[in-house]
Amino acid sequence: MAVMGRIHSVETFGTVDGPGIRYVVFAQGCNLKCKFCHNRDTWEMNAGKLVSSDEIIEDMLKYKSFYKDGGITMSGGEAALQVDFVRDIFKQAKKHEVHTCLDTNGYLDVERIKPILEYTDLVLLDLKHMIPENSIWLTGAPSEKAQILARYLDDVNIPVYIRHVLIPDITDSEENLTRMVNFVKTLHNVVRFEFLPYHIMGVSKWEQMNKEYELKYIRPATQEDVDKAKALFIKNGYDHFEK
Ligand code: SF4
Repeated sequence: MAVMGRIHSVETFGTVDGPGIRYVVFAQGCNLKCKFCHNRDTWEMNAGKLVSSDEIIEDMLKYKSFYKDGGITMSGGEAALQVDFVRDIFKQAKKHEVHTCLDTNGYLDVERIKPILEYTDLVLLDLKHMIPENSIWLTGAPSEKAQILARYLDDVNIPVYIRHVLIPDITDSEENLTRMVNFVKTLHNVVRFEFLPYHIMGVSKWEQMNKEYELKYIRPATQEDVDKAKALFIKNGYDHFEK
């Protein structure tokens, strides 16, 4: 039976949220409050559009031939808050032999999302900040749950891309990056580590919603910033970056 869920939007030819060309569903609702969020309009749980899992699958299958090396990605907001909805989409996708990818902030209880993971081929896990008080300041929560999820995914051998938004003066400190690389090195299932350079393309959404964007004084990250962060990882013995 179809399961209803709330979505913000759909991208039929996504190329940045997992391997290959992907059907990306941006779910409505988020449980974090990242100061750098570029999808500010996805936060509210009861907004967006109500759709059924069957509608999503039906629409996705129209483009199936494009997803040979890609698949479907559930992103957000935080898609995993809608467990039954995402589970049903992934379960149906697997029946059609479509690769499934969950893009998550990790601020979730593992037990609660196990029904989704049962049908998940790849997880894109955001590690926001490794220093608890900085993480709380930046996102509203510590990143401990994301680390627990990362350990669980390692235990059950689900491949993971770890993603980290590199924000000048906020997440690019040597202490944060060293903690992060040391943590990532203990995992065996991380296929790649992606630095996402901080950008300000989402600021207009905050303005349209009359919300104050607190990071106005922070500049976007440059390729040089990313290279510097990568160099620190490499120095610490880790180099699984996207090619
Ligand atoms: S987890 Fe993602 S959608 Fe949620 S507030 Fe943070 S950046 Fe925005």
